[in-house]
Amino acid sequence: MSVTKGLNFSQDSLLLTLVATPIGNLEDMSPRGIKALSEADDIFCEDTRNTEKLLSCLKIGKKNLHSCHDFNEEEESNKAIELIKEGKKVCYASDAGYPLVSDPGSRLVAKALENDIRVSVVPGPCAAINALVCSGLDSEHFYFEGFLPPKEKARNDELRELSERKETLIFYESPHRITKTLVAMCAVFGPRKAVIARELTKVHEEFIRGTLPELAILGEDELRGEMVIIVEGKPNASVEVDDNMICLALRDELEFERSGKEAVENVAKNMGVKKNRVYAIYLKTFKDNN
Ligand code: SAM
Repeated sequence: MSVTKGLNFSQDSLLLTLVATPIGNLEDMSPRGIKALSEADDIFCEDTRNTEKLLSCLKIGKKNLHSCHDFNEEEESNKAIELIKEGKKVCYASDAGYPLVSDPGSRLVAKALENDIRVSVVPGPCAAINALVCSGLDSEHFYFEGFLPPKEKARNDELRELSERKETLIFYESPHRITKTLVAMCAVFGPRKAVIARELTKVHEEFIRGTLPELAILGEDELRGEMVIIVEGKPNASVEVDDNMICLALRDELEFERSGKEAVENVAKNMGVKKNRVYAIYLKTFKDNN
């Protein structure tokens, strides 16, 4: 067992300091975060241009910045460890929010611990937690998924697995995929309550609350900017699936160029409804239009 005590640069043991940064509002940068960055000799970060901007806004002078992202984290982590062993004060700062939360940094932390280097974090905002606590959904038990896989099959497999979880589910999503993701969620989760948390901590922060089918039909104009999706966990009682939801799910399947037969089978299986019912809706809505 290892025990970590006292968390600042003034202690004499080796230390890696993680620094959470604002997710859209500079005023969320904590005084401790500013102090850690000001005192650092070397700052590892995702994109040096973003960190340069942050430092300049915080009126922190020039620092040695090292770009450390998904594709070079291994080599850059070795460099960071060497610098810490030489006695340098080293921070790892995210572009936005917490490092390691759907962001790089986990290999760096693992390497630091392997090398008996203490790891400390200066806390700050995290989009997932901001969204969860304002969602109005159960915040006592939650499951953080982050980004779903981009490929359709992997995404749907993942959603099917998640559909059994009782905890509130938290997803990150980019604006160009949000509608497809909401439609896919409708098909697998049914009409659960959900919240889209947009532009958190910024001037246009907004929470759009409704059921998944209601959110899935929102227009692109309403879904701009950065977003978190919060979805109710599996309800205890089974929920009535309505025809609109079946229709949406069929449309999603057909958009992926599935045959009518495949689309009907998939929707019936995912939503747990009878095949003849889905087939009747398919005939009425899609077949007559072709
Ligand atoms: N490390 C970050 C954190 O602690 O929240 C998350 C970084 S992840 C690469 C970026 C995703 O976080 C975005 O696609 C979006 O889903 C979410 N996000 C970040 N900032 C946000 C904001 N201001 N409002 C809503 N969602 C945000």
